[in-house]
Amino acid sequence: MEDAIVLYPFPGSGHLISMVELGKLLLKHHPAVSIIVLMLNTQNIHSTSAARYAASPTTQYIASVKATTPSITFHHLPPVSDVPCTSSTVEFFSLFSNLNNPKVHQALQTISQTAKLKALVIDFFCDAAFDVAANLSIPTYYFYTAGASSLAVFLYWPALHKRFDKSFKDLKDMLIDIPGLPSIPTSHLPEPMRDRNAKDYEHFLLTAGHMIKSSGFIVNTFEQLEKKAINAISDGLCVLDGPTPPIFCIGPLTSDSNQHGNDQHECLNYWLDSQPRQSVVFLCFGSVGSFSEKQLKEMAIGLENSGKRFLWVVRNPPPEIDVEPKLDELLPEGFLERTKDRGFVVKQWAPQVEVLRHDSVGGFVSHCGWNSVLEAVREGVPMVAWPLYAEQPVNKEVLVKELKLALEVNVSEDGCVTAAELEKRVSELMDSSAGKDVRERISAMRDAGSTAMKEGGSSHLALSKLSELWFRKTCQSRQHYEK
Ligand code: UDP
Repeated sequence: MEDAIVLYPFPGSGHLISMVELGKLLLKHHPAVSIIVLMLNTQNIHSTSAARYAASPTTQYIASVKATTPSITFHHLPPVSDVPCTSSTVEFFSLFSNLNNPKVHQALQTISQTAKLKALVIDFFCDAAFDVAANLSIPTYYFYTAGASSLAVFLYWPALHKRFDKSFKDLKDMLIDIPGLPSIPTSHLPEPMRDRNAKDYEHFLLTAGHMIKSSGFIVNTFEQLEKKAINAISDGLCVLDGPTPPIFCIGPLTSDSNQHGNDQHECLNYWLDSQPRQSVVFLCFGSVGSFSEKQLKEMAIGLENSGKRFLWVVRNPPPEIDVEPKLDELLPEGFLERTKDRGFVVKQWAPQVEVLRHDSVGGFVSHCGWNSVLEAVREGVPMVAWPLYAEQPVNKEVLVKELKLALEVNVSEDGCVTAAELEKRVSELMDSSAGKDVRERISAMRDAGSTAMKEGGSSHLALSKLSELWFRKTCQSRQHYEK
C-alpha cells in the first residue's frame, strides 16, 4: 500500500489554495506519496457572508491542479443537509464542519483500506475533524494559513482567558503582551476573541485546545519573516499548560497564478501593459472585503486627488457584495471619466497574483489577509496596510511596527478612512523616502523568502523534517512528541 496524506482544507480560496500548494510541494519531496484532498461541499449553504467566504471561487484552480498534478486527487464529500443559517462566521464554520464529520469519518476509513494514511492535515476552520482523526488514531496536523504571529495570539489565548475575567471588548484601550509580538491593543484581537459571552469565543477556545494537543503546526510563513513569533512558539512561550507541538514553517506558499482560464484579464493586457514601470497602486481587499458607499466615495476622492495611477477592485457594499456593482452610481459623479487615463476599476475580482507580479505595479493597498501579504512579499511590492477583519489587524501591527514592510492607514473614530488620509498614504508609498525604504525592505524579504524555499533554506529544511517524520520515522517521532 502506498503512503497517503489527507489534506482537509476549508473551501475559501485563501485557505484551499495554499493547502493544495502544500500538497504539490510534498509531492516534489516525495513523488511516491498519494495526496488526497477532502473537499467540503458548499452546495446547500445559505447566502451569508460566512457562506460566501466558504464558497469563494476555486473551481478553475482545482481544474488546473487536476490537469497538471494528477497525483493529487480530490475526494468530494457529499452535500450535507440542514446547514444552519447563522450570521456568525466562526459559528457557521464550526457547525458546518461538525455536520460533515460523519462524511469525513467515512472518507478516512475508505482511504485507509487502500493506502497507509500517514497524517490528516486540517485547516483551523475544519477543527471539528480533530475528534474524528483522534478516534481513528490518525496523527493530526493543523495547516495554519495565516502567519505565525496570529498563531502565537491564538495559542496564547487560553492563558489570556485565564488571566482576565472581563471581555477584551470592555478593555478597549488596554495593550496586551503576547510572546513574540509587539504590544497589541485589545481592539486588534480577532473579533471572536473579544467577547467571552459570544458563541464564537467558545468555538475558538475549543479549537485552541485541540491545536495544542495536535501532532504539529504547519505554517505558511518563513523564518526570516516572522522570526520572533516563530521562536516564541517553538520555545514554548505561547502554550503555558503543557508542551507545544512542533512547528513547521514551510512558506511562502502562494499560487503561481490567480487566473486559471485561458483568457487574460483585461486589467493585465489591456491596461497594466500600457502603464509605466512601478507607477500603479493596486487596491484589493481579499475574497470578501467590501466597504460602505460612503467609504467607497472617500476612496475615490483620495485616489483622484493623489494624482497616482491606480487599479482598484470594487465590490458592492454589504449585503449585496456578490451583485455586480454599478460603478456610476457607487462612485462620485464623473470620477470614472476624469480618471480614465490613469485609473482602472475592476468589478469584483482581479487576478491578484498576476497583477502584483506585473512590472507596472509599484504599491498595494491591502487588507493584510495573510495570502495577500505573502503574495506582496513574493513579488516585492510595498504595502499600505488597511486591515478589515479577523487576524488582519494583528498582521498589520507586525508588518508596520516590526517588519516595516507596510505603511499604516489611520482609521477615524467612525471607522472610516478619509479621502485625505488615503491620498496621503498612497503618495507617501509611491513618492517619499519612507516609501522607498519600505520598497527596499520588502525586496530584501522577497529574496529571503525565495532562499527559504530553496535546498538548504529554512522552509525547505522544515518540509524535509516533516516528510522524514511522516514517511520514515513516523512511529518513533510520534512517540517522541507525545511524551
Ligand atoms: N484574490 C484575488 N483577487 C481578488 C481578491 C482576492 O486573486 O480580487 C486572492 C488573493 O490573491 C489571495 C486570496 O484571494 O490569494 C485572498 O486571501 P487573503 O488571505 O489575502 O484574504 P481573505 O480572502 O482570506 O480575507
